[in-house]
Amino acid sequence: MARIFNFGAGPATLPEPVLEQAAAEMLDWRASGMSVMEMSHRGKLFIGIHAEAEADLRDLLSIPQNYKVLFLQGGAAAQFAVVPMNLLRGKTTASYVDSGHWAGRAMADAKRYCKIHIAASSKHANYSYAPKQGDWKVDPESAYVHYTSNETIGGVEFHWIPDTGDIPLVADASSHILSRPLDVSRFGLIYAGAQKNIGPAGMAIVIVRDDLIGHADSRTPSIFDYKVQAESDSMINTPPTYAIYLAGLVFQWLKKLGGLAKMEEINVEKAKVVYDYLDQTEFYRSPVAREDRSRMNIPFTLKNDKLDEAFLKQAQASGLAELKGHRSVGGMRASIYNAMPMAGVKALVEFMRDFEKTNG
Ligand code: PMP
Repeated sequence: MARIFNFGAGPATLPEPVLEQAAAEMLDWRASGMSVMEMSHRGKLFIGIHAEAEADLRDLLSIPQNYKVLFLQGGAAAQFAVVPMNLLRGKTTASYVDSGHWAGRAMADAKRYCKIHIAASSKHANYSYAPKQGDWKVDPESAYVHYTSNETIGGVEFHWIPDTGDIPLVADASSHILSRPLDVSRFGLIYAGAQKNIGPAGMAIVIVRDDLIGHADSRTPSIFDYKVQAESDSMINTPPTYAIYLAGLVFQWLKKLGGLAKMEEINVEKAKVVYDYLDQTEFYRSPVAREDRSRMNIPFTLKNDKLDEAFLKQAQASGLAELKGHRSVGGMRASIYNAMPMAGVKALVEFMRDFEKTNG
C-alpha cells in the first residue's frame, strides 16, 4: 500500500488510524454482524454511535449546555441559505463580512432572504487580509453578523473572535474547525462542512445557541428547520449515518491525541515550517498579510508562473498531490489540515527547496 501526501482542500486527508479502524469495522461493527452503513438509524446501535459522536464533539469544543449540536446534510453550502431561513426572526437585514470567495457565496444565497449589509470588505486588496474589528460597520438592525472564519481559497484566517455585542455572531468555520480550541459561547451559531477536519463530504455540523432556534420562516422545509432537527436529534429524515460514524472516529482520534490545545500546538508548528520557508525565498510568494495567514490553507505562487505545470507534475511524481490552487486564483495551495502529518509538511518544503535549486 502506498499512501500519498494529499494537500487537497477538501475532501482532504483523514487520519490514518481512523481509516484503519473504519476498514477493520467495515463488515462487522463490534460483533453486530453488520456494517455501520447497514444499521437502522433508529436502532439502539446507531443511536449509541450518534450520541457518542455528539458527546465527544461537545467535550472537544467545551460546547455549553445551551447550545444544540446538529449533524445536517447538504454540506456547508446548504447553510448559506438555511442560516437566514432560521435566524432572521422577523428582521429584514443581516450583516456580512466580505473576506473572499466563501463569504461571497454565503452572501449570494442569503440575498434571496434578506437585505445584505456589508460590514467590512477586503475586496479592494484582492481578499489578502482579514478586515480588522475596528473597520467593521455592523448595521445595528441586523438579525446576525456572518463571517467566514477561515477562507479556504484565499488562505486568510481570523485568529481572533469578533465582538458583535448583542447581535448574534455566525461563523462559517468549515476549513479550520477543530484545528484549535474555540470559545463557543462567543457565537450565536457556528457551521462547518465535514470534509476538511471532520470526516466525509456531504455533512455539515451546526452548533447553535438554543434561544436562536424556533423562529424559522414559515416556508422553511422541516429538514432545514433547526428546531425540528434539534428536537429529533438530527433525525427528521434518515441522517448521513456513515458520515456521523466516521466523524465520531475522528473526534476520538483528536481526544486521544490530547484534544484541541495539543492539535493547535501541532498545527502552529506545521504552518511555521511552510511559512518560514516561504519567507526566506524570492522564488515563491505568499499573497496573504502575515498576521492573517491561515494555518490550514497556504496559497503560494511561483515567481515564474511558466514553471507551474512542471512544479505540479514533479510534486505528484514525488508523492505530493493536489497542490494546484483553486481555479479562481491559480498558483498553488497546500492545505495542511489536522490529519496532515508533519512528515508531509517537511516533504513538501524539501521538494519546494529542491525545485527552487534546480529552476531558480
Ligand atoms: N465554506 C467554506 C469556507 C468552504 O471551504 C467550503 C468548501 N470548500 C464550503 C463552505 C462549501 O462546503 P460544501 O461543499 O460542503 O457545501
